[in-house]
Amino acid sequence: MSCVFCKIAKKEIVSEIALESGGVIAFKDIRPSAPVHYLVVPKEHIESIAHLQKNHSEMISKVIFTAKELAAQLGLKGYKLVFNVGREGGQAIDHLHLHLLGGWSKKADIEHLPHPGLDPALIQE
Ligand code: AMP
Ligand code: ZN
Repeated sequence: MSCVFCKIAKKEIVSEIALESGGVIAFKDIRPSAPVHYLVVPKEHIESIAHLQKNHSEMISKVIFTAKELAAQLGLKGYKLVFNVGREGGQAIDHLHLHLLGGWSKKADIEHLPHPGLDPALIQE
């Protein structure tokens, strides 16, 4: 298995882990798109939100609650939670992950948030 997030979950690749509980791991994004940027990832390999089954409802709930807990720990008053889904949705790594983005000080910076990982070739005019 060559999945980078599976390797991070198994500690085969080093990451800056912030939280780990109940089959979910949260770590710093290596190329931050915001002053504060973490990824919340289920340890189980699931490709994307589009691949979720009914039996994943507990797992996806844990992912969201972990993001909420981490945001509180980091003292973020407001933040964005983003799931990129598929290449057309800006997903570059095919292991489901929730982006926790925050720490902006100016409204303009929030409004101009880049779309992480989106391939410009996929944007149709
Ligand atoms: P996405 O475009 O939604 O698939 O986002 C993938 C994210 O994973 C990007 O923001 C990358 O910067 C981040 N990323 C890729 N490799 C690593 C890594 N080894 N450790 C931490 N973050 C990573
Ligand atoms: Zn994986």
